[in-house]
Amino acid sequence: MYEYRCKSCESTFEVNRPMSASGDPAPCPAGHEDTVKLLSMAGIAGTAAAPAGGGGCCGGGCCG
Ligand SMILES: [Zn+2]
Repeated sequence: MYEYRCKSCESTFEVNRPMSASGDPAPCPAGHEDTVKLLSMAGIAGTAAAPAGGGGCCGGGCCG
């Protein structure tokens, strides 16, 4: 189950499709094809990597 948002009518809708078709465009119930896939239940883990380094203790010279 994937959630999409239509940029034409600004509605959100869900499409039940296999993961292999997750990249396919999904027209909204009103027939608009200008839609974007929202990050909902599927595939959230691992998509947003934590920022590495940057101001950590061992990166700022305070450790010695
Ligand atoms: Zn629409």
